[in-house]
Amino acid sequence: MSDVRKMQLADNLARVEDRISTACAKAGRARDEVTLIVVTKTYPASDVRLLAELGVRQVAENRDQEAAPKAAECADLSLTWHFVGQLQTNKVRSVARYAGIVQSIDRPRLATALSKEAVRSGRELGCLIQVALDADSGETGRTTGDRGGVAPEGVAELADTIAGSQGLRLDGLMTVAPLAGPYAGRQRAAFERLMEISSDLRANHPAATMVSAGMSADLEDAVAAGATHVRIGTAVLGVRPRLG
Ligand SMILES: *Cc1c(COP(=O)(O)O)cnc(C)c1O
Repeated sequence: MSDVRKMQLADNLARVEDRISTACAKAGRARDEVTLIVVTKTYPASDVRLLAELGVRQVAENRDQEAAPKAAECADLSLTWHFVGQLQTNKVRSVARYAGIVQSIDRPRLATALSKEAVRSGRELGCLIQVALDADSGETGRTTGDRGGVAPEGVAELADTIAGSQGLRLDGLMTVAPLAGPYAGRQRAAFERLMEISSDLRANHPAATMVSAGMSADLEDAVAAGATHVRIGTAVLGVRPRLG
């Protein structure tokens, strides 16, 4: 059974790898400019283990209730865990124990809470600011929608907060292609907008070079725009049994 699953995952990984290399070649980018993060939400720790055997080093989860036990079961593997879901401050203590990078920071309070827990646990946490492009309409720094994220106008201030917080390392930006607003259905344009915001950010924070964008359906658009990290779930693990 696990042999069959492993072959299936290997096959899917090869297909995704092929898509990423093709997209890099088309964009005139080197393959190693783009890192694959496999989003393992709703799939068991046994799949994470198989993925690790197949060479995956970066995995992502979006709910602490699910991620915490899974990360604990996989503690012997050399994996970096990315947290990509909306994060309540009461989950911060748990997330700070296993996450290497939190990709979904969208408010100063969250940065403050993460900083406190990073210091407490003696770890340095990588931080990405989640940008909500459905809010790109000039309303300053307002969080919108149910997917989280700060409006582009709020990025600079949040970046300064993170950069000034003990235990936190500002690594860059993340976005999810918006379902509403001016970029709905225009993934490529959305990711290009994210790249512009990233270059503004890097003017003040040159080390914040990560740009996490692109999922199973739109990784080509993300690579073409300049993303450094793609977050792939379905195309590697299969269609999820439930919403997650
Ligand atoms: C689930 C999820 C992904 C992966 O989506 P797929 O379409 O399954 O590749 C990427 N990013 C975030 C934030 C997610 O929640």
